[in-house]
Amino acid sequence: MDFSLSEEQQLLKKTVREFAESELSPHAREWDEKQEFPREVFTKLGELGLMGVVWPHEYGGSGMSTLDYAIVIEELARADAGVALSVAAHNSLSSGHIFLAGTEEQKKKYLTPLARGEKIGCWGLTENSAGSDAGGTRTTAVRAGPSWVLNGSKTLITNGRIADTAVVMASTDKSKGKKGVSAFIVERGTAGFRPGKKEDKLGVRSSDTSELIFEDCRIPAENLLGREGYGFIDTLRILDRGRIGIAAFSLGIAQASLEASLKYARDRRQFGHPIADFQAIQFKIADMATKIDSARLLTWRAAWLRDSGKEHTTESSMAKLFASEISVEVAMEGVQIHGGYGYLKEYPVERYLRDSKLGTIGEGTSEVQRLVIARELLGLRGMVR
Ligand SMILES: Cc1cc2nc3c(=O)[nH]c(=O)nc-3n(C[C@H](O)[C@H](O)[C@H](O)COP(=O)(O)OP(=O)(O)OC[C@H]3O[C@@H](n4cnc5c(N)ncnc54)[C@H](O)[C@@H]3O)c2cc1C
Repeated sequence: MDFSLSEEQQLLKKTVREFAESELSPHAREWDEKQEFPREVFTKLGELGLMGVVWPHEYGGSGMSTLDYAIVIEELARADAGVALSVAAHNSLSSGHIFLAGTEEQKKKYLTPLARGEKIGCWGLTENSAGSDAGGTRTTAVRAGPSWVLNGSKTLITNGRIADTAVVMASTDKSKGKKGVSAFIVERGTAGFRPGKKEDKLGVRSSDTSELIFEDCRIPAENLLGREGYGFIDTLRILDRGRIGIAAFSLGIAQASLEASLKYARDRRQFGHPIADFQAIQFKIADMATKIDSARLLTWRAAWLRDSGKEHTTESSMAKLFASEISVEVAMEGVQIHGGYGYLKEYPVERYLRDSKLGTIGEGTSEVQRLVIARELLGLRGMVR
């Protein structure tokens, strides 16, 4: 068993870290305060091949592995979690759905510009009344001759206001519940489709989150993505990779919290000593580092299983559950180590705490991950997100 990264992976990590430290870190506080999505950064990420990390070269991607993808997302999140979340939703959700279920023509037409970073994607599953119970989709798609007509709305959609290409789940047969949900590709500018309000969020504020609204939105019949009635089934497979991305996102925030805490513990003096000399602080740091390493091993294992073509639903959920929960714990300890200053905007640890919480909610809450894990173990595989 070899736990080390290959030379290529070490170089990838170094390259993304350097990019993130020069292009993201200096602006992270301002983007957080202004809730600003830095569009120009995404063009640069596209030039680096990070907007289509795992997709084959023939579709404009970089042809890298899921482990490489986890490295990229962790490094981006270490600098700016909002950017990392938007990149993850673009790579693994919208592009991921097109790669998984798209026809050759759809991949060439839609995946290629997404993978090159020329266009941005979003993926709409969640609705006001259909969150964890995603099968409760109320948005409808009705076949009308050469078109599908979509009506309804999606909520809490990453990249919602800025996406050029939306992948959207809609019910094509209400009587079949989850098995009547289908996926569609909707392009920005299509009549009857518009983004709704931009959400004002606790964290990941440089990531755009908004509603998608469909009012008699007519799209060509060929924009059905995958087989009719397979939208939700494909979603479960897409989330297997997506959750590895959210685990990596959570790891990046936790790593940043640890690094900030190490620096602060060495610099801050009380009672005539650096606070790093106090055992209470040392124990916090030891626990933070141990939790991060455990989460990274779970994340890399899930990525390795996926790259090896092995079943990994349970392991992806375990990685996402554990990494996101320890990320909040580690970020909380980071604030504690900073004392009163940890509570101020002047230090980044309060942002890490706010950002980390998203990991326990997006792409299935911690409770839903526990359901997935327990049902897999008990052989009760079902239609849970
Ligand atoms: C910043 C952000 C970005 C997002 N981006 C996207 C996106 O790009 N695309 C997209 O489709 N969605 C996106 N989401 C939505 C996200 O996936 C949902 O918020 C999440 O799945 C939970 O759904 P909900 O918010 O409706 O909560 P609910 O499902 O209403 O859950 C409320 C609470 O009840 C618990 N609960 C629900 N059902 C059960 C159960 N059966 N057993 C035990 N507990 C249960 C939940 O765990 C939670 O604690 C995003 C959300 C956020 C905050």
